[in-house]
Amino acid sequence: MNHFEYTRAADVQAALAQIVSASPDATDTPDAARFIAGGTNLLDLMQEHLVRPRRLVDISRLPLDTVQVLPDGRIRLGALARNADTAHHPAVREQLPLLSSAILAGASPQILNMASNGGNLLQRTRCAYFHDAQAPCNKREPGSGCSARKGVARQHAILGASEHCVAVHPSDMCVALAALGAVVHARSPRGERDIAFADFHRLPGDTPQMDTTLAQDELIEFIDVPASQQYAAHSVYLKLRERQSHTFALVSVAAALDMGEDGRIRSARLALGGVAHKPWRDLSAEWMLAGQVPEAAIFKEVAALVLQSAVPHGVGSGSSSFKIPMVRRAIVRALEMAAKDGTPSHHPSTG
Ligand SMILES: Cc1cc2nc3c(=O)[nH]c(=O)nc-3n(C[C@H](O)[C@H](O)[C@H](O)COP(=O)(O)OP(=O)(O)OC[C@H]3O[C@@H](n4cnc5c(N)ncnc54)[C@H](O)[C@@H]3O)c2cc1C
Repeated sequence: MNHFEYTRAADVQAALAQIVSASPDATDTPDAARFIAGGTNLLDLMQEHLVRPRRLVDISRLPLDTVQVLPDGRIRLGALARNADTAHHPAVREQLPLLSSAILAGASPQILNMASNGGNLLQRTRCAYFHDAQAPCNKREPGSGCSARKGVARQHAILGASEHCVAVHPSDMCVALAALGAVVHARSPRGERDIAFADFHRLPGDTPQMDTTLAQDELIEFIDVPASQQYAAHSVYLKLRERQSHTFALVSVAAALDMGEDGRIRSARLALGGVAHKPWRDLSAEWMLAGQVPEAAIFKEVAALVLQSAVPHGVGSGSSSFKIPMVRRAIVRALEMAAKDGTPSHHPSTG
């Protein structure tokens, strides 16, 4: 059994002080002090002995739980706002339906009621080898090897992987935030900073133990989503999974189109989930769509462009090779749906 201290912070300064006093060198080791929000991911990791924090700093009561529309039209999502409250907030439903559908496509209502926005960004991969303490895994134990590369890697990456790690980021919410160009605001004892969403999650390279660019002693305060109303009428989050309810994406596509009165695409947003170590936004695909008439032929060209560097991992029936045609078809289908009327893929009763 791992013993740990539990403290609860009343404000942000206290939360930072409580983290620093337990882990003064801010090194991100398995036994470093951690913030805990909803606990839906961290407690699982502790039960599996994948992390053994010497102190948990409970941030769930911090006044960072609101969703606000800022005067310039950005929508500010508090890090402690629950996923369910965020998805059902009137401004998010109306102006960011892509984000609302992506959140509701993830997990059960019970999880969505506990899970916080900050915690969603920092959830760890679902790679079975990462969660199996007996299997070599560079993400869990740097230098031990990657079991997935030659093992069962059906769930794994086809883009941006390295010889050290082929795990994928599991979040649905983050795929929409990547497409919408969100910005993460974090605070540490050294001050505050904004992190563009594209720079928040990392590709594995030779340091797959690091999922993000956030330091161990940095607290996410809020996430700002730029005004995106121009995409509201034509946006889709398409999630493909092994079964219909309460499970992670095999692949997902966040697609949003700003349609001009001439019937052409003014601008587009496109990001993928389940394909890489981070939510995968493809700017070249978005540029290719701008100015086009929304037709299957151009959508197929876009899919080919996105997948030009795709590489499967794993062996035999455990290979992720099936994801390449699956992603190709999902991109085309999501763009077709978005161009038509942007029907969200998710229905709340199906989880
Ligand atoms: C059965 C199940 C099914 C799920 N299915 C899906 C799914 O289909 N799609 C999907 O996207 N997700 C899914 N999830 C994951 C779920 O969305 C995450 O567990 C949840 O979002 C994590 O939020 P939390 O507040 O509980 O985080 P916690 O577990 O409290 O924390 C997670 C990590 O974030 C850190 N942290 C939390 N808040 C902050 C902050 N403000 N600043 C800095 N660090 C912070 C913690 O230190 C910890 O390392 C599922 C989870 C479960 C248990």
